[in-house]
Amino acid sequence: MCNIAANLAAVKDRIADACLRSGRDASDVELIAVSKTFPAEAVREAAAAGQILFGESRLQEAEPKIALLPSSLRWHFIGRVQRNKVRRMLPLFEVIHAVDSLRLASFMDGVATELGLFPRILLQVNIGGEHTKGGFEPDELPAEIDSILSLPRLEVMGLMCIPPPGPTAGHSRPWFTALRNLRDELQSRHGTPLPWLSMGMSGDFETAIEEGATHVRVGSSIFGERAYRVDGELG
Ligand SMILES: *Cc1c(COP(=O)(O)O)cnc(C)c1O
Repeated sequence: MCNIAANLAAVKDRIADACLRSGRDASDVELIAVSKTFPAEAVREAAAAGQILFGESRLQEAEPKIALLPSSLRWHFIGRVQRNKVRRMLPLFEVIHAVDSLRLASFMDGVATELGLFPRILLQVNIGGEHTKGGFEPDELPAEIDSILSLPRLEVMGLMCIPPPGPTAGHSRPWFTALRNLRDELQSRHGTPLPWLSMGMSGDFETAIEEGATHVRVGSSIFGERAYRVDGELG
């Protein structure tokens, strides 16, 4: 757990370079420091180095961690959403990244109504068409998005993906391009702005920025290698 401040600075430099290369403004890309599996201490260290936005993927791990930390920190939920956790999740997280079905979106909308909240969400797209991954199929989303957009409580900010794993960062590029193209198509066809693209992790965040990412989710490059896998999630 050493070097968090130095790792964070290095990641920020790489983000700035990727923005420069692709003619983007550094303020257009938000870094989500993915703290899953790491203790509150590690988050504190990153916060002391200026990071205020963090990502978690399991509610049962995030709840006690968030409770130990200053309320000035901001949290995004990046993991798979279980319906029975939505009620506890919505008040803690400012954005839910992986809404992966119309059914879940409708359910969330109902809970948000009861809680008096207007959650910001992203729609996860199974961009690589993998059997093991959740998300809307790219060719089904155009037919379903109108129903999602009509849910009164959910603020749909854009799309999110986790591309199939590959040997190099460049391997992810076509998937990132595909997600951006799908977003552009949905935007022009439905006239609703979908400004956010959550894509890119430690192995490929620079490529994601070159392809238009507005949110990169970076864990191990900041906090170090994770000692254990998160159930049903990436390691
Ligand atoms: C764990 C995780 C990340 C961060 O992965 P790293 O390779 O450690 O940067 C990003 N996104 C999701 C959805 C994750 O589960």
